[in-house]
Amino acid sequence: MTVILQSTLTCPNCSVAKVETMPTDACRYFYECTTCGTLLKPKHGDCCVFCSYGSVPCPPIQEGKEDDCCHAQPDSTGRADQRRDSLLDADHERYCASTK
Ligand SMILES: [Zn+2]
Repeated sequence: MTVILQSTLTCPNCSVAKVETMPTDACRYFYECTTCGTLLKPKHGDCCVFCSYGSVPCPPIQEGKEDDCCHAQPDSTGRADQRRDSLLDADHERYCASTK
């Protein structure tokens, strides 16, 4: 299948939409709106800002490989979610990189 790398991000604060190119090898956890300066973060349960605010979800999701990113499925104890939620935002990208 063809993976779309262009996604239109719509800022929830000022509603300005901007086309951004998504990286294929990392998830984009933060995005600063170029119009109002709001720092966008993914909604709970989403792995990146494109999944939350973009017109197209990120490449790993399009390929059905969400396990590659931060969407690691929690085991029966829900540990994966707890581990992710316990991370500071600043540590998130490092965590993503370390799981590849
Ligand atoms: Zn904005």
